[in-house]
Amino acid sequence: MIVVGGGVMGASTAWWLARRGSSVVLLERFAQGHRNGSSHGTERIFRLTSADALYCRCAVESLPLWRELEDDAGESLFLTTGHIDFDTESELHIRADAAAAAGVATTWLQPEDVAERWPGMHSDLPVLFHPEGGRTNAQATIDAMIRRGRDLGAEVRFETPVSAVRNTAGGAEVDTADGTLRAGAVVVATAGWTPELLAGQVPGLPTVESSTGQVAFFQPIDPSATWPTWVSPETYGMPTPDGRVRVGHFQHGQPVHPDRRGFDTDPQTRAEIETWVGEHVPGVDPHNVGELSCLFGETLDDDFVIDRSGNIVVGCGFGGTGFKFAPLVGRMLADLATGAPGPGGRFALGRP
Ligand SMILES: Cc1cc2nc3c(=O)[nH]c(=O)nc-3n(C[C@H](O)[C@H](O)[C@H](O)COP(=O)(O)OP(=O)(O)OC[C@H]3O[C@@H](n4cnc5c(N)ncnc54)[C@H](O)[C@@H]3O)c2cc1C
Repeated sequence: MIVVGGGVMGASTAWWLARRGSSVVLLERFAQGHRNGSSHGTERIFRLTSADALYCRCAVESLPLWRELEDDAGESLFLTTGHIDFDTESELHIRADAAAAAGVATTWLQPEDVAERWPGMHSDLPVLFHPEGGRTNAQATIDAMIRRGRDLGAEVRFETPVSAVRNTAGGAEVDTADGTLRAGAVVVATAGWTPELLAGQVPGLPTVESSTGQVAFFQPIDPSATWPTWVSPETYGMPTPDGRVRVGHFQHGQPVHPDRRGFDTDPQTRAEIETWVGEHVPGVDPHNVGELSCLFGETLDDDFVIDRSGNIVVGCGFGGTGFKFAPLVGRMLADLATGAPGPGGRFALGRP
């Protein structure tokens, strides 16, 4: 098998394929740990809540797979912190109902409960809480998947761009600067680069639009404070592995070609993050101590693409929420590559 793209989804797929004894070559255009895609940085939120029960169910299915990855890698990649959702009462009821439909119990915390549990956080309104939420260690996760994949026989080639992917009779092939490689199936996990790479090869491939997002890091006033992960209509946040608090803004930039995006951060977005932090995170110094720009690759209907066309398997469109599902998505893509059925439905190619 060939996997194109070494972000978290391609790395997860290669890990699953190698664990199953498949011969696998992973081809990534940039160096390990690069910052040109969606998966870099040291942390991501894991939560079981969403306004959409499909994604709650996927998160429920992903949680034991995170533990499986930790066991396999022999390292801790997931810190359970508990997660809170901030929003209006009616929006939080939608999330609570979607979570309940997936078998997830949530509880309401009053503002005073929030202050008691996490003195560094503040809410004027009740929030929705579930204890299983937490932080995943992003780059460490990708590194662990690649290391374990290699231990199990996968070949991983960084700085190896793929210039074309084609279905062939009985398999598929990819072009690289070193020549053409052939396999029974090729998994393409190249986020916003996918439509251009697969042009004309995969009928029904939805548009995947790229845009940039911005996050900032804050220093806690009390270094021993603990933090939940959270999502609000404007921001999301979590404790980082090195003791800071990361806060991201939900507003994305304009659609951009993934090779022509800027890396500069926007002063207006910075001000909005700092204002939100000043109001809701009194336990940190509200002036950021670091910033990061990141690329989202999203479909127009916001649903993921996880499907197969001929001998090409596609996994893309994971947008700003995909990391938490990576062990599950990698398993789905490995299933498809080895001829097992995929999830279908809203994740299918050619959906309405
Ligand atoms: C700022 C930000 C915050 C986020 N926060 C969260 C969060 O808290 N929780 C959560 O669950 N999710 C979060 N996400 C979403 C999550 O990070 C993404 O959904 C996920 O990383 C997508 O992974 P990917 O492998 O599809 O894409 P990518 O990481 O972009 O990987 C695609 C890879 O393909 C490679 N590639 C492209 N073209 C080629 C080619 N021709 N040949 C070879 N290689 C190629 C690229 O170099 C890249 O490495 C966040 C995303 C961003 C941007």
